[in-house]
Amino acid sequence: MENEPLLMMPGPVPMPERVRSVMSRQAINHRGAEFGAIYEDCVRMLKPVFGTQNDLYVLSGSGTAGMEAAVSNFCAGKKIASLVNGKFGDRLYQIADCYGDATAVKSEWGTPLDLEGLAEALENGAEAVTLVHNETSAGIKNPAPEVGALARKHDALFIMDGVTSIGGDLVEADKWGADIALVGSQKCLAAPAGLSAISVSERAWDRIVEKRPFYLDMAAYRKSGAKKPMQTPYTPAVPLYLALREACKIIEEEGIEARIARHRRMSASVRAAAAAWGVELFPTLDEHHEYSNTVTAMKIPGGLTDAEFRGAVLDAGIAIAGGQDHLKNVIFRIGTMGAVGTTEILATLAVVQRTFVKLGVKPEGDGVQAAAEVLGCE
Ligand code: PLP
Repeated sequence: MENEPLLMMPGPVPMPERVRSVMSRQAINHRGAEFGAIYEDCVRMLKPVFGTQNDLYVLSGSGTAGMEAAVSNFCAGKKIASLVNGKFGDRLYQIADCYGDATAVKSEWGTPLDLEGLAEALENGAEAVTLVHNETSAGIKNPAPEVGALARKHDALFIMDGVTSIGGDLVEADKWGADIALVGSQKCLAAPAGLSAISVSERAWDRIVEKRPFYLDMAAYRKSGAKKPMQTPYTPAVPLYLALREACKIIEEEGIEARIARHRRMSASVRAAAAAWGVELFPTLDEHHEYSNTVTAMKIPGGLTDAEFRGAVLDAGIAIAGGQDHLKNVIFRIGTMGAVGTTEILATLAVVQRTFVKLGVKPEGDGVQAAAEVLGCE
């Protein structure tokens, strides 16, 4: 048994033993053939997970580094429309505001995006659009294909954060017209934290800006990536690349379609538990938006505080996430990402259910049973 808490948060997530163990070895030369092969393997295996045939690079730096690389290289000095309905949409807006002439097209966190507002911003000359596909802070999946189509209609670049969808839910970056798509390693890929991967279309290369950042210069990544053996411009976080390759092999072995189906089943089971308990899901949807298939956000019932509720769940060995910023004490979030499955979900839901009872909140029904039925193990 592990002594660590079971991480059922929207990242980081538990890493399979194979992924952990490949990191404990002697250092290797990052300019040599072995590293080049590792990097090439990561790129080859990640492309189908992104749904792209575009160039793809792995950056040493978490998801936010990928976000910053996207905006700073391709949108600096330009008019940018940033769609915001949660914390990470807002983060992309803040990055856009650092580098360009950014407008936030805002909705309340966890509510549908303002697509009319986006159309208006595009009519007013926005040259790039930023979107978070799966808004982790609110548990809502945003309509990437519709946003991509709007961007394309106005010949704007489309930057899509797939940090918590790529590797867990369906992403078709090329079909949706995502010029830039990006992922973080510690989410659905079930690799260690510290890497991001970013795909770049020909359209985006044509629009790369003159004055780029130094460390995250995508032209430098392109130049080093074309070398034989494949390289990164500066010393990469080599052990993390080793682990990422192993995580990608696991995805390839499972098959991306099967992995997506598993993620959908897992999140549906958590939603079934919420319905049985009578606990309200946080997002409000319309015909364009869906519940996230990788993280489920629910309102904390019965006036419990975040500290007492999640503290008691953690005491029982399970780490779930709370709400961020103004959603602290309002919602809690259960991640169903990466390598976890039936056992981890049922254990989590059993602990959450027992914690409700222990803290004096009586669930309407048996959420564990409802989830087990969805998972096909009643
Ligand atoms: N984008 C989304 C949708 C996220 O969920 C996160 C992190 O949770 C990030 C970006 C930022 O990634 P990182 O924390 O790896 O920098």
